[in-house]
Amino acid sequence: LFNLQGKVSIITGGTKGLGREMATALAQSGSNIVIADLDEKTAKATAEEIKKQNEVEALGFQVDVTQEDQVQALIQSTIEHFGKIDVVINNAGICQKIKAEEMSLQDWNKTMEVNVNGVFLVSKLAGKEMMETGGGSIINIASMSSFIANTEAQCAYNSSKAAVVMMTKCLANEWVSHNIRVNAIAPGYMETDMAKPLFAEQGELRHVLDYIPMKRLGKPYELGGLAIFLASDASSYSTGSTFVIDGGYTI
Ligand code: NAD
Repeated sequence: LFNLQGKVSIITGGTKGLGREMATALAQSGSNIVIADLDEKTAKATAEEIKKQNEVEALGFQVDVTQEDQVQALIQSTIEHFGKIDVVINNAGICQKIKAEEMSLQDWNKTMEVNVNGVFLVSKLAGKEMMETGGGSIINIASMSSFIANTEAQCAYNSSKAAVVMMTKCLANEWVSHNIRVNAIAPGYMETDMAKPLFAEQGELRHVLDYIPMKRLGKPYELGGLAIFLASDASSYSTGSTFVIDGGYTI
């Protein structure tokens, strides 16, 4: 049920943090891996490491998900090498901690370009290929911030992640007849580089931990099981849904 042998999975922002752990989890279940990230050297090095540790093929490409020509090149290279795309994890994302009244339109747009436009572009171009080859599974990385307004100054980020949840539902509906399932994962506070600046101010981490029923941050590998579930036939009746992993924060 959870076997991904012979599958081809693209993970954006896959060189570190949550993306890297989800790529590793899919490889452990047998999927071939394509890492797409901003830095070519790191993307290729990450792919090499995944290949060494698992009996799968892995490639790494420099891709800025906001640039349509670069996303197109990623899709083309993947098709040339593997002949298909089974799974996409739209994981690349940025979080700017800027008070709304001080945020420039340029910064606002930057968040939207990566977190919303990037998810749309990769989904659109990979989705077209999936339609040709009989279907696939798209997994968007949203956030618990899609549903709640955190105390941190994250208006653009939360708005962008709310859009990811709605895009997940819309694409799921549009593409159900093409056998493409589209779901999202909404993580809570996870221990990655992205979360670090959120806790720069003294006492902020303690304040956050107070509100998490499990009293700890999530470890990046703790998304792996859900990523395998959504990528595989185990989730064959799930589409358009957002699955929360947040240590109980939003309950
Ligand atoms: P991270 O900063 O550790 O990693 C993000 C990765 O995305 C990096 O490798 C970065 O190079 C890549 N990236 C950024 N912009 C890109 C672009 N334009 N094109 C291609 N790649 C790009 O962050 P993370 O914590 O691992 O976050 C991964 C995803 O999970 C993000 O979408 C984030 O919003 C989401 N998320 C994180 C948390 C958390 O607490 N860490 C919580 C909820 C959701």
